[in-house]
Amino acid sequence: SRVAPVATARSVCGFCATGCGLKVHLGPVGNALNLSPDSAYPVNLGMACPKGWEALAPLAATDRATTPLLRDPASGELRPTDWSTALNTFAARMKAVQEKHGKHSISFLSTGQIPTEEMALLGALFKFGMGGLHADSNTRQCMATAATAYKQAFGFDAPPYTYADFEESDVLVFMGANPAIAHPIMWQRVMRNPHDPRIVVIDPRRTETAMAATDHYAVAPKGDLWLLYGVTHELITRGWIDRDFVDAHTTGFAELSTFIADYSPERCATESGISAKRIRELATMIHRGKAVSFWWTMGVNQGHQSTRLTHALINLALLTGNIGRPGTGANSITGQCNAMGSRLFGNTTSLLGGRDFANPQHRADVAHLLAIPEEVIPSEPSLAYDQIIDGIESGTIRGLWVIATNPAHSWIHQGRFAALREKLDFLVVQDMYATTETARIADLVLPAAGWGEKDGTFVNSERRIGVTRKVTRAPGQALADFSIFKLIAEAWGCGAMFEAWSSPEATFKLLARLSADQPCDFSGITDYPFLQDAGGIQWPYPASSDRVAPPANTALNRLAPARPTATADVYQERRLFNDGRFFTPDQRARLLFEAPAPAPESPDESFPFWLNTGRGSSAQWHTGTRTDKSPVLRKLAPKRVYVEINPDDAAQLGIHNAEPVTIRSRRASITATAAVTPTVAPGQVFMPMHFAGVNQLTYAAFDPHSRQPSYKACAVSVGRT
Ligand code: SF4
Repeated sequence: SRVAPVATARSVCGFCATGCGLKVHLGPVGNALNLSPDSAYPVNLGMACPKGWEALAPLAATDRATTPLLRDPASGELRPTDWSTALNTFAARMKAVQEKHGKHSISFLSTGQIPTEEMALLGALFKFGMGGLHADSNTRQCMATAATAYKQAFGFDAPPYTYADFEESDVLVFMGANPAIAHPIMWQRVMRNPHDPRIVVIDPRRTETAMAATDHYAVAPKGDLWLLYGVTHELITRGWIDRDFVDAHTTGFAELSTFIADYSPERCATESGISAKRIRELATMIHRGKAVSFWWTMGVNQGHQSTRLTHALINLALLTGNIGRPGTGANSITGQCNAMGSRLFGNTTSLLGGRDFANPQHRADVAHLLAIPEEVIPSEPSLAYDQIIDGIESGTIRGLWVIATNPAHSWIHQGRFAALREKLDFLVVQDMYATTETARIADLVLPAAGWGEKDGTFVNSERRIGVTRKVTRAPGQALADFSIFKLIAEAWGCGAMFEAWSSPEATFKLLARLSADQPCDFSGITDYPFLQDAGGIQWPYPASSDRVAPPANTALNRLAPARPTATADVYQERRLFNDGRFFTPDQRARLLFEAPAPAPESPDESFPFWLNTGRGSSAQWHTGTRTDKSPVLRKLAPKRVYVEINPDDAAQLGIHNAEPVTIRSRRASITATAAVTPTVAPGQVFMPMHFAGVNQLTYAAFDPHSRQPSYKACAVSVGRT
């Protein structure tokens, strides 16, 4: 019989960084029965995409990890064990690796999918308690470029916008972003824009967003930087810049002007595949726009020169004074639900609160606030993800702990990751499922609770901190990651160091104190109920009680005053830099640039196609670990490895729609179903990232600044199977 809900819990979604509010309807014993989008939440205004509607389904999957699993040396099988054995094994074997190969021979790879409180505890435990140094997150695969570019240009990883900007621009430029399916609720906000906006999409592929746009610029693969430099040249040459803003608030204009003189629209047309006429039209559109916003996501972030490409977008916003006003901004759309929480508080490459491990004052501040000895805080930065992989290959990293991510599927050039397994002395996977590609090759699996089975906070794309709530019990012996980290601290012998981290909410309060006086200051948020009543709060939100004049190098002073109770001011648009002051020491933004470099691997006679990868459907999420568990989502996006190929190329190769084809790169070959479609241009093919084989093909190249992998361009051949 149907059970009627008796209560409702408010939570935020745990898939993408839109951060939609959901109302979870609870039965008589407090368990989740179903959910609906929260119409009072300022982000999604009563909407949700298919993943949000189906957020409870992955919790009920039959393959949940319900007990710790330890690989039996005799049979080689993963066998159930108890928590006590699992925790003692973890501590004993990780310590053994450290004793044999050095303190820094262990590492962790975490995620943007678990709450900030859990990531902060993990990072603090690993670096301050276990003596580890090298740790990174799968945000390296999604947001590292945006974070690096913001830090270099603005002085802090600070996406400046609010979602209201989608509705307030009269020109929106989307580059390498497909929000119609990747961020569907953000796209709905664009659709609500009352200004009859020009919507420009710059993407080699005719995506769902490109089809709905007013202008599609089908740029050549890796011709993106050339296109933006052509536009910049036109704006500067014609004097279509906001000279007052540039002079008052930026540095590097003279150098940029000299550099860009060589990038005429005619020259850039050849390299970008966009005619000089259309490059000039784009410059004219930007010039004439009253409120122009620039948006990007993985098509920009995942490239061999992605940081400078991001700077080229940031430069356009700065040069034209399109920042700090409604409807403007150089706006990175984040991928995962808590990528920003991971970046600011994961304690991997940045010290807690977006601080710098190499800065003695920052180390002293954190030591003081946490009441820990300063000596336990490393002064060196961590290796990045790809360098940790290199470390495994060279034998310097021998113990690996993987939390809520699936690198054996998602890491670039996946075949290489699988080979690395043999080089590890000990591999621990902590996950909701023991069936992921990475969990299946682990020595030890720790069963974790998922979204909806634990409390915490996420930080969404517009810097809004939202509460995610426990609305059901985790199955079997699965525990919240927070509890697992606490137990590991005890087993390791450093539990006393984390006494104050007694619960997710106690940790939140600790982190609020740690954020004080940083650009991401949220010390005005007192507790979860305050945050929840407010409908989430965008940082910065400093404490009014102890607020003094903001530090000279921040833009905090133009914010509305924080109030002790949730009131309308919490909902207001909180955009950064509306006084033109940035987080750099001189408060000026940097105009940064670099000559375009050829792609590390380009098509040739043997491998004549560009392979592009990306999201395939609004119903799929990353490696499908959770979305594959929902029958509804599987029906919306059947698990089918396919490759989009242009009809002209298909005709030339004798390939028919829906027949199997073989895709080859220099690294591997896989079979896929042909999807013959003009969404891809001749000479290009596209594959969704959700299927394991795709990253056997990709080429492991990295942006030198952000060390983000270049998933968007490698050379392949296609033929009938
Ligand atoms: Fe969840 Fe993102 Fe969908 Fe919103 S758009 S419901 S946050 S997956």
